[in-house]
Amino acid sequence: MARRRNDMGINKPRWPKSGECRVCHCTDEFGCDAGCSWVDRAHTLCSLCTGTTADLHYTLWAIGYASRHYPQEAAFKWIVREARAARRRHDGYMKAIGIA
Ligand SMILES: [Zn+2]
Ligand SMILES: [Zn+2]
Repeated sequence: MARRRNDMGINKPRWPKSGECRVCHCTDEFGCDAGCSWVDRAHTLCSLCTGTTADLHYTLWAIGYASRHYPQEAAFKWIVREARAARRRHDGYMKAIGIA
């Protein structure tokens, strides 16, 4: 599947599906040019996107989506978990690029 980006270089968000990076939309067949691998068991996030600003951007969108589409109790637990996981990924990214 071809990668789709809008003019801002940011993908229009949609709910993740297994086998496609939720941020850059790379797949097993069409990976990132620099080479990447899956960082989650569900295969929805690749190693070049994890912890980046684009990853955080996506997570914020997903939290808004979940708050509108999930039953309240389930959404709350999911949102807390996703927010923590996104912060951990971002911490790792900041360390990797030498900022933190
Ligand atoms: Zn990616
Ligand atoms: Zn990738």
